[in-house]
Amino acid sequence: MSKNQALFERAQRTIPGGVNSPVRAFRSVGGTPRFIERAQGAYFWDAEGKRYIDYIGSWGPMILGHVHPEVLDAVQRVLANGFSFGAPTEAEIEIAEEICKLVPSIEQVRMVSSGTEATMSALRLARGFTDRSRIIKFEGCYHGHADSLLVKAGSGLLTFGNPTSAGVPADIAKHTTVLEYNNVEQLNEAFKAFGPEIASVIVEPVAGNMNLVRATPEFLDALRERCNEYGAVLIFDEVMCGFRVALGGAQQVYGIKPDLTCLGKVIGGGMPAAAFGGRRDIMAHLAPLGGVYQAGTLSGNPIAVAAGLKTLKLIQRPGFYDDLAKQTRKLVDGLTRAARDAKVPFSADSIGGMFGLYFMDQVPGSFAQIQQGDTKRFNAFFHAMLDAGVYFAPSAFEAGFVSSAHDDAIVDATIDAARGAFASLAA
Ligand SMILES: *Cc1c(COP(=O)(O)O)cnc(C)c1O
Repeated sequence: MSKNQALFERAQRTIPGGVNSPVRAFRSVGGTPRFIERAQGAYFWDAEGKRYIDYIGSWGPMILGHVHPEVLDAVQRVLANGFSFGAPTEAEIEIAEEICKLVPSIEQVRMVSSGTEATMSALRLARGFTDRSRIIKFEGCYHGHADSLLVKAGSGLLTFGNPTSAGVPADIAKHTTVLEYNNVEQLNEAFKAFGPEIASVIVEPVAGNMNLVRATPEFLDALRERCNEYGAVLIFDEVMCGFRVALGGAQQVYGIKPDLTCLGKVIGGGMPAAAFGGRRDIMAHLAPLGGVYQAGTLSGNPIAVAAGLKTLKLIQRPGFYDDLAKQTRKLVDGLTRAARDAKVPFSADSIGGMFGLYFMDQVPGSFAQIQQGDTKRFNAFFHAMLDAGVYFAPSAFEAGFVSSAHDDAIVDATIDAARGAFASLAA
């Protein structure tokens, strides 16, 4: 038995499914998850010493590559000063100032420890601010695993949302309405039907949890306009796309100002840090200023903040995002050419340092379109690449990530490996 297999069997005895987050279990692609021992730059190594080019980057955070020397140094400097105080620190002011500077729609910000906490807290705040209960989300967007957000569409626009997870009470799910991503008409209908009840609309302005799907500018414009018209709080969940598609996030790319923004992933530089923030008048409703309660023992943890702050500084290097976008584009263009040469139906898209690979002819624009991809082919491609030492997300419904450590040689090696993988699919 291979070492990865042995670890997986051992893991399953004490950890449900052998993993601490479901997608790591390789359920959708089959096979044995790789247990990772260490990482450096664009690579990680598994328990058997096999090296992989890493295109998940911890699902987004590792935008500078693994163990960037300056981030490592920043963390080492604060480690000996203490791990956690439960009292405020100057570094928390610095990261708040940095976030407000880089994302101008954020006038005030609160640090939390995970993206789930950020979205859950932002929604509570939106509900407390508006004194309304109903929220709108979109099919295929993931906003963490809070009860209100694990909901799918009911059978019609005016029916209640249904839980997507056991354990979510129907009484909670009924306050969530789920609409189709990029569907302006449906959005307008929903606001016409129950606009005055809507506390908040939450959206991934570039979706990265149903594979990569871009919002159309018309869709985000319509969100902004309807929210203004009805006094609903517009929340951009930029936990994934923030500091990933551009320095100022998707809101900079689209030129739209949300009322609240959720951040995570990149802002922790690989450590558990996330945040939500936005309009000062809304943030003033948070405890201790206002009546919306929110708290955290490890919020603004000094070690996580040190990693995040250094990461935020380094991504401000002039040309950083141009280089990252160019490299990511080079990858998807190379993969597209390789697929075409092997006559495998395939398309790809990228925005900033984020990319999507689709086993279909056209780049999809909705969850329904994503479902039409050839998952069997994706799974075969995933395993062929894994064998060749390239680690893509182990699911056809996840985006991929490039870091500043993915240099030309690494991208070229990936495209070469893909030529072999596509050829084996076509055979
Ligand atoms: C990852 C993610 C979350 C949840 O963040 P966690 O840190 O995993 O809780 C929320 N929203 C989006 C858009 C994400 O990509």
